Amino acid sequence: MHECEICGKRAETVYEIDFEGVRTLACEKCAKGRQVMGVLGQKKQPEARGDKRAVQQAYEAVSEELADNYGELIRNARERMSLPLKVLAERISEKESTLARVEKQETLPSEKTRKKLEKELGIRLIVKVPASPRQPQHEQDKITLGDMIKPNKGGDE
Ligand SMILES: [Zn+2]
Repeated sequence: MHECEICGKRAETVYEIDFEGVRTLACEKCAKGRQVMGVLGQKKQPEARGDKRAVQQAYEAVSEELADNYGELIRNARERMSLPLKVLAERISEKESTLARVEKQETLPSEKTRKKLEKELGIRLIVKVPASPRQPQHEQDKITLGDMIKPNKGGDE
């Protein structure tokens, strides 16, 4: 279990987000609409308590994206396996130069290449992010912590 550093809620899965420029762990709710840099604890499935609907809803609330540090993930896994780039390239029928560029994040791997890399290295290059659309102008309507916990009063006069 991880604790949301914004609302304090304990959650099985938390997102590493950019919160006012600070790397912060947040629950799914608090991570919504923010830039997600990583996910913690996603390998464990939510405990099945006969509530399949809740699980399904949680699943639909996120979309999958290539990890921000995909190059690092590939290189780390490859180095762990002491696998030279050339050998890895041969194993997945890719050009060594292409893989080198992917590791440096100079280029994105195609979906096919990504899947081959994941399989060969035993890693996941996809992270789950909240599915809310990214708002380019979110600088203007940033919600402060104070606003979020302020009780919602009816009249404002
Ligand atoms: Zn939270």
